[in-house]
Parts: sequence; structure tokens; C-alpha cells
Amino acid sequence: MKNSALALALTILCSLIPVFSADLSEQARASGDLSFDRILNRLTEEYSEGLRMPAAPLPADLQAYQDDRFWVTVSAAGSSERTKLLEAGMDIVEIKGDKVSGTVHKDLMSGFAAKGILLAFKKPLSAHLSAHMKDFPAADAAYHNFKETTELLKALVAKNSDIASLISIGKTIEGRDIWCLRINSTAQGTKASAKPGAVYIGNHHAREHLSNEVPLLFAVWLLDNRATPEITKYIADLDIYVIPMLNPDGAEYDIKTGSYKWQRKNMRVNADKSIGVDLNRNYDSWFGGEGTSHSPATDTYCGLSAFSEPETMAIKKFVEARKNLKTLNSYHSYASAILYPYGGSRNEVPDVKDRKVFVNMAKQMGLLTGYDPEKSSDMYVATGDGCDWAYDVGKIFAFTTELEGGSFYPLATILDKAVKNNIKAAVYMLSVTDNPYKAIN
Ligand SMILES: [Zn+2]
Repeated sequence: MKNSALALALTILCSLIPVFSADLSEQARASGDLSFDRILNRLTEEYSEGLRMPAAPLPADLQAYQDDRFWVTVSAAGSSERTKLLEAGMDIVEIKGDKVSGTVHKDLMSGFAAKGILLAFKKPLSAHLSAHMKDFPAADAAYHNFKETTELLKALVAKNSDIASLISIGKTIEGRDIWCLRINSTAQGTKASAKPGAVYIGNHHAREHLSNEVPLLFAVWLLDNRATPEITKYIADLDIYVIPMLNPDGAEYDIKTGSYKWQRKNMRVNADKSIGVDLNRNYDSWFGGEGTSHSPATDTYCGLSAFSEPETMAIKKFVEARKNLKTLNSYHSYASAILYPYGGSRNEVPDVKDRKVFVNMAKQMGLLTGYDPEKSSDMYVATGDGCDWAYDVGKIFAFTTELEGGSFYPLATILDKAVKNNIKAAVYMLSVTDNPYKAIN
């Protein structure tokens, strides 16, 4: 054991093994309760044939919208090479060795050639998608879309009303609530709490559906296990927030037609009629600098100004109103990495002690998930990042967890492991939230 916090976390995890291995009996499934195992099992069955979404007509203003992106592969060996691609307007989706794949809007392709960037592979994104996702079911629904996420959160609060409350931290561009589940034994709703706070955020990026499921199911799991002494203690001592779906507009758009849109951004209609701002380029942290694009049609478009979007503004207000927040985990997919600041700069965080906390916490969460701990900008430099901002503005130890799955639409083979391992890392984060400097003791 390297430190007491990890030892504590592992002790808790050992005590949870019976929960993890519990039989998913027909009886439990039929009971209609809110148990973690039942919900995860239901998801696993549904993910086994890919995410299934109901088809629905698009709103009129989106029907004419043409997806003009290409899927490209480029040779780019290191962080600075990859950052150049971002600046040229590429959205990096996969890194495999020295090859990088992702999307580029058609209007920017000529700029790639002008910059001497050679494309090893290129085809329209629609062709790439149809080659990789052949099975779009017409109607089958019970994945946690926005409505189901909302209903589950409300049901959790109804069942645990003594310690759980649900607040809307703001409305999206299209007017949906950004839900935040709070777990705190003494403070409800927006009432202030002096207890150290932890926050888990999912779904900055619409198509990263697993990034909604992980924090959502973590909340289910915490409440399901609230009588376990260690969890009871965290609930008594800490102020815990889960914001599973920050970008519900984009998530709904991604799934609602029955064929996946590969939507990353929110649903802002830009001046040029293109759709969306990249929410994780929109924070006030080196805003508009390296690794983002100022072309509205690109997937990494940073927006007109920092916090121009209601979704990021909701996080800004949420964080600034809660000076007790100590830790933050923002979920994305699918690079299998635990990333720590800075992402918008190649520099290390200046405080040596804080840097050690980041490195050690990332290492421990990496051990629990099997993901690679890494300084965010070592992958590529991307400005306007929410974790950089949260650390600089509130000294919050903020991490990006890049989940696994090898796809934005992962199959059941990874879901069970991914959710459970990430719950372990989330519990570890709770174990140091009272004093993150424990991570270096
Ligand atoms: Zn993401």
C-alpha cells in the first residue's frame, strides 16, 4: 500500500465484492427496484446489440442540416503534431501508435493540404459510419436517454429523500434541465455545506454515451450501498454531486433518428447555420488558443467567447457557488486514460505539491481502471478545458477520465467491467476528497 487513502479505498472495495458478484436473479430483475445490479444488467443486455434508440423525426430546423464531415487518418507521432491537427480543424477521435483518426469538415480539407498535412486515408463520415454500424434498430428504447436519465434520478431521490436531492443547475440551448443529483446527509438542494465536495460530470460530448452511464450508475451504486459503513461515512462527511448529462440536447440529437449522428457539440445554431459549440473548448482557460478551432462547422469549435454556452455557464455558476469542492471527475470516451492538468498548456501546474497530488491520484485511478495516467497536454494541447479551469479557479483536483470501449457506441463486452472499475476509481476519489493531500502522504 502506498498510502492510507488507497488502503482505505481498497478496504472498501473488498467489502463491495459481494455486491459486485451478486447473482442477477430473475427475482431481482422482476422486482422493478432501483438496485445497481438490476440496472447494470438491463443495460448490459441492451448494449449487447449496440445502443438501441427509438427513431423520431428531427425538428424542422435540423432536417436541412447536412453532415459535411470527412473521416480521415493522418500520421502524427507526438503531442505537438497532434495539436497542429486540432488547430487545422480536426477532431481527434482515435490515436493508434503514430496514426491519428478523426473528423474534418469539408471546408477545411483544402487547409490541410495547404499546411502540408498528408492524409493517409479519407472518406465521407457517413460512409465510415455505415461501414462500422450496420445494425440500427428501428425501435427499442430503454437506454438512458435524457428522459430515462431524468426519471431514474427522480426515482433515486424519491427513494432516498433523506440524503439525496435533485437540482437543475441550468437550462440548455434547447431548454432542457441540466440535472445534478446531490448526496449529502445534512444539506439538501442548494443549501450550502461546509463539507468537502466531490463532483462527477458526464457527457460534455454528446456521442460519448458511456460518459453518462458511468456517473449515473455510480450514483445508483452509492445509494444502493448507502448502508455499507464506509459509504455511510462518505455520505455523512462529504458533499457529493453527480451531473451525468451536461449536454442532453446533443445526446438526444445523436440518437433520436435511429441512426447515430456522431454529434460531439451542443446544439447551438451558429451564425453560418452550422450546429454546435465544443463545450470542452468553451471554458475560460486559455480560451481560443491552441488545440481548438474558430471555424463554427468544426467539431472542436470553441464558440464566440468563453462561457458563451448555457451548459458551460451552468458549470461555472455551480462551481463558483460551492467553494467546498475539492475533487472533480469529468467523463469522456474512449481513449482509456486518466488525464490531469494542464490540457491547455504544456506547462506543469506550478504548485509542486499539487502536481504530486494530481500525479498520484491519476496513478491510483489508473490502477483501478486499467487506464493510462497522463498529463492531458501530453496527449495533445487543447485549450478551453473544464478541468484546467476548475483547478485554476477553485484549486479543485479535476481529472478527465477517458473511458474505454474502442467506440462511441460500445458493446456489452466492455460495459460491465468499465462501469464497475470506474466506480472503484470514483470511490477512491471520495476517499481523498476530505483532504486530497492524503494522496501524497
Ligand atoms: Zn469528450
